[in-house]
Amino acid sequence: MTDPNVGAVLAQYNLATAKSLGQNFLRDGNVLQKIADAACPAARILEIGAGIGSLTSLLCEGAGEVVTVEIDRKLEPLLSAEVPHENHRFLWQDILKTDLSTVFEETYTVVGNLPYYITTEILMQLYEHIDCWDHAVLMVQREVAERLLAGPGSKEYRAASVITGSLCDGELLFEVPPHCFYPPPHVHSAVLRLTPKKERPEAISFIAFAKAAFAARRKKMTSSAALQQLLHIDKNGLLSLLSEAGLPTDSRAETFNPADFCKLYKLAQRKKDIFLNFSKNRDCKG
Ligand code: SAM
Repeated sequence: MTDPNVGAVLAQYNLATAKSLGQNFLRDGNVLQKIADAACPAARILEIGAGIGSLTSLLCEGAGEVVTVEIDRKLEPLLSAEVPHENHRFLWQDILKTDLSTVFEETYTVVGNLPYYITTEILMQLYEHIDCWDHAVLMVQREVAERLLAGPGSKEYRAASVITGSLCDGELLFEVPPHCFYPPPHVHSAVLRLTPKKERPEAISFIAFAKAAFAARRKKMTSSAALQQLLHIDKNGLLSLLSEAGLPTDSRAETFNPADFCKLYKLAQRKKDIFLNFSKNRDCKG
């Protein structure tokens, strides 16, 4: 793909980028093509954020049906003209207020050069609706990608790493330097592929579990007040849970790998009397 002239296209419609909406648009044709190639062919694609529609058009060529969620209505005249594809529709709304279970009748691929100011919120929303999608190809800040894919022992290892590693297989596809964007951001970026694991814990309650376990990541897991509260048990209860799961009882949350977390979570879940009731995940139709 040839490089889109982002500045000229915006000027043609008398528009400017909005920093507050994370509007750093891709201006490198190779990067746009690589993202589209990583996502396509696909039957259905949900794109997060359209910009000037450069990626949208490529996705429309490689997918059966594409829906783009875009919050900025000022882009509507530009995008109506630049994205004329019949297999495409826009949802002019906030992705965080979009019910991801109603976008398509069947599972879909998620693609997005994400607005970085809400990356974590978007990721958590995707995880909470993990039954709705089969792959995600996402551009995020490079440090966020490293954190999501980090393992125990790394200083980047957080609740988000455990959640990602327990729910998905994650792969860093390639890095993207600032000059590939208009305007260039102050950070480097990376494109990730996330594929939901076939065997995975129920997302909503597991997210709460992992966050509680990491609430005091420098303390021993048994001393986590948040985890005790969530599971309705005290320190001794946590001790016996860990030992029943065959895990060390005197270690910090940051030393356990995602498989350990899943094991502990499943054991806690089996003991229904101690585990909080969470709202059930919203399944996709079809
Ligand atoms: N896909 C385009 C590209 O690669 O050039 C645009 C990417 S730009 C980093 C992020 C896009 O997400 C912008 O078009 C922005 O307006 C949109 N956006 C920001 N916040 C959003 C939200 N809460 N819901 C939906 N779209 C949002």
